Amino acid sequence: MRKRSLRDLPPTALDGQRALVRVDFNVPLKDGRVADDTRIRAAAPTIKYLRDKGARVVLLAHLGRPAGPEPELSLQQIMRDVERVIGSVVEFIPDPATGVATTRRLTRGGVALVENTRFWPGEEANDPRFAETLAALGDFYVDDAFGSAHRAHASTEAVARLLKPAVAGFLMEKELRYLGDALHNPRRPFVAVLGGAKISGKIDVIQALLPRVDEILVGGAMASTFFLAIGFQVGGSLVERDKEEVAKGLIAQAGAKLILPRGAVVAPSLERAAERREVTSDQIPADCAVFDIDQATRLDFRARIVRAKTVFWNGPMGVFETSPFDAGTRAVAEALIEAGKRGAITVVGGGDSAAAVAGLEDKLTHVSTGGGASLEFLEGKPLPGVVALEDA
Ligand code: ADP
Ligand code: MG
Repeated sequence: MRKRSLRDLPPTALDGQRALVRVDFNVPLKDGRVADDTRIRAAAPTIKYLRDKGARVVLLAHLGRPAGPEPELSLQQIMRDVERVIGSVVEFIPDPATGVATTRRLTRGGVALVENTRFWPGEEANDPRFAETLAALGDFYVDDAFGSAHRAHASTEAVARLLKPAVAGFLMEKELRYLGDALHNPRRPFVAVLGGAKISGKIDVIQALLPRVDEILVGGAMASTFFLAIGFQVGGSLVERDKEEVAKGLIAQAGAKLILPRGAVVAPSLERAAERREVTSDQIPADCAVFDIDQATRLDFRARIVRAKTVFWNGPMGVFETSPFDAGTRAVAEALIEAGKRGAITVVGGGDSAAAVAGLEDKLTHVSTGGGASLEFLEGKPLPGVVALEDA
């Protein structure tokens, strides 16, 4: 079901109105400063559009997991970055219960940011009374926080039931289009590339994707658990021994769709990268661990990716944080870009995967900013924050 979007509201209806906008500003902080402003930039198009149409913009967001008011998790710390990204001064509302006057004082195009919603227990309790407090800060509701949509909280769920119209912002709309429609009715061939550290968090994703994809290419540490299931030795590789049976089941279910790495880059340890070498997957030495996919696998995966018309990628192919073990991950990123040039829709989801393609966003169809939410959505789970929005 398509959700009503900001685009569906007549621009004249926005003029002078207070837009209550839930954004995902859950950014990483380092020494009280924003270490990565990707999420703030991702919300900018919605904020800019509203300001251009003369709306007064009131932003709601959470930061981290505070047990109550915690200065280290105050959104005050991100104010300067928000102002820089949207190019305007921003008013700070320290308490939503006393914020109405500030929202009414905003000029057309003015912006205010409310303190971390999780400072109040009503937020995570999805408390209707706290939602009423929030709803009083706006005349209509825009949800652009796809990354928080898998949680039924007052600022994502209850408020959307109280304050109408309740519509999707541009980022939310894009996430729904590319993770939803594009992957549910994919242009074929549809190839999924999965990697990362663990199978355990991704079993449901693999199971949900299997009936829909033409091929599923597996790399990363996840591949080593599949190797174990086949009966290969994995040396000191990161594996989940208790998931061997699950892996066996997935292999049986997937049949020819499941493509495992032909070989691996192994080394005695991450620190001893100089001693790295390539081995076939059935020859992993006992005194080594797998840290990346090998060159033969990169070429194999590349060939399969570039002939696809839809590609979804989650999870790095190796320990990409530590060069030279980023080569497999970079090769897959380049293959996605090449597939895109040939007309494919290319979608990347997952926190580490998004970090791995930082700077390449323009060359990909969509890089999801919502880590956990993107995977749950792919699994077909209804996201409370999306369900609560009006249908188009
Ligand atoms: P995402 O956040 O994109 O969903 P994950 O969190 O599942 O991805 O996995 C990312 C992590 O997987 C990275 O920290 C990376 O170092 C690790 N990883 C990938 N391949 C290996 C490997 N062969 N051995 C150990 N860790 C690996
Ligand atoms: Mg991760």
